[in-house]
Amino acid sequence: MPPQLQARLREGRLGRQGGELGGVLDFVRNEIAPHPTGNGHPAFFAWINSPPAPAGIIADLLACAINATCGMGEHALMDLERGTVRMLADLAGLPGSAGGVLTSGGSVANLLALATARTWFLTRRDSGDGPAFDRDHARLTLYFSAQAHMSVAKSAACIGLSAHRLRAVATDAHDRLDPAALRAAVSADVNAGLLPFCTVTTVGTTATGAVDPLEPVTELCRSTGMWHHVDGAWGGLGAAVPALAAHYRGVGGVDSLTVDPHKTLNVPVGCGALLVPHPEHLHTAFAHRASYLTGEPDALPWLSHATVELTRPGTRALALWATLHHLGSDGVTALMEHYLALADRLREQITAEPRLELLAGGPWPVACFRITDQNGGDPDALHARIARRVQDNGRAYLATVAVQGRTVLRACLCNYRTTTDDLDQLIHEVLRAADAECHPDA
Ligand SMILES: *Cc1c(COP(=O)(O)O)cnc(C)c1O
Repeated sequence: MPPQLQARLREGRLGRQGGELGGVLDFVRNEIAPHPTGNGHPAFFAWINSPPAPAGIIADLLACAINATCGMGEHALMDLERGTVRMLADLAGLPGSAGGVLTSGGSVANLLALATARTWFLTRRDSGDGPAFDRDHARLTLYFSAQAHMSVAKSAACIGLSAHRLRAVATDAHDRLDPAALRAAVSADVNAGLLPFCTVTTVGTTATGAVDPLEPVTELCRSTGMWHHVDGAWGGLGAAVPALAAHYRGVGGVDSLTVDPHKTLNVPVGCGALLVPHPEHLHTAFAHRASYLTGEPDALPWLSHATVELTRPGTRALALWATLHHLGSDGVTALMEHYLALADRLREQITAEPRLELLAGGPWPVACFRITDQNGGDPDALHARIARRVQDNGRAYLATVAVQGRTVLRACLCNYRTTTDDLDQLIHEVLRAADAECHPDA
């Protein structure tokens, strides 16, 4: 971006006189639209940032014009959100009773999940309020794997857990939570008089795409009175893909599941969801009454009774609904299979290239790799520079991540428009950048 434009955007000075709407839109076309994150491009492989598919873009605009508020009252968009959440729950393999609520993304869905787990746990101990709350709350202990997304620890901080009540459990050689290590941590804490209240597993870890074992964790949660939350911001819909289904055995028995349609489904940002087999747990955590908000006594709970938001946009529901109807359930499966096939091919290309080494990746569609011919120097700094050089060259984009304590390159597949030509381009750009960094005189 030109530095003058950056400075102008950040300055934020408002004139006294308004302007023509046309001039405002020209500014968006000329100054904003040319400088996006880049994730609309099929050769963008950084993080887990999808492009927006057309169905969602159009529906998003229409929902803004309809401008229903999906927190209260009874109207079409709120029912549409209820139905759309049901569709997601079916795709995710949750039982027919399941419900939930759309959120701005996976981080907020994880926050709602931890708040719900906390209320559920304390209510069962009859310590949801008063001095018993103070006594129990200070002992609540949360478990997740060392590969969990940082939003889990952030959510824990938001609900008032201190860092010394968080347990980052060891993972196995494939970056999956180790159930034996979890069991040991929980029993040590119980012996120390603490209150293990929730374990968070991840299906599709952000760094390497690993899927934690679900059934052993649910079993442990049942026997110790914990809530089992699954962070599926990336991989929450894996049960809909036959090749991944084995990893998702038992997903119907968990207590809550985060899903991020703005990742795998290419719905415009921000569209996430928290899904729960028993929606009443959300209502226990979030339904508050007020004299200025009264509905029909026999109506369904409002969606504001399942989340922290009251005035909520209809954009998430309409964009997701339009996307799902455009794809159909077969289309959802085919879209994820498209990512998986591309990732398999990319990993094969990396393995076949002697100047590259594949370090991790899968079952979710990602490849973590590094340069073999490094020509001395600090390898972590080298990989950061290579990624930066690829980004600056502007023909492909990828990021770095720490794997086994080393900074490596990470390429993620989550774009419906990406083709094998884009993979070839990425490999070409990485090798070119590596040559420029390692053999500048060649
Ligand atoms: C992306 C991600 C999140 C956060 O989701 P946002 O939509 O970015 O808030 C949480 N967990 C996992 C595993 C993720 O990959």
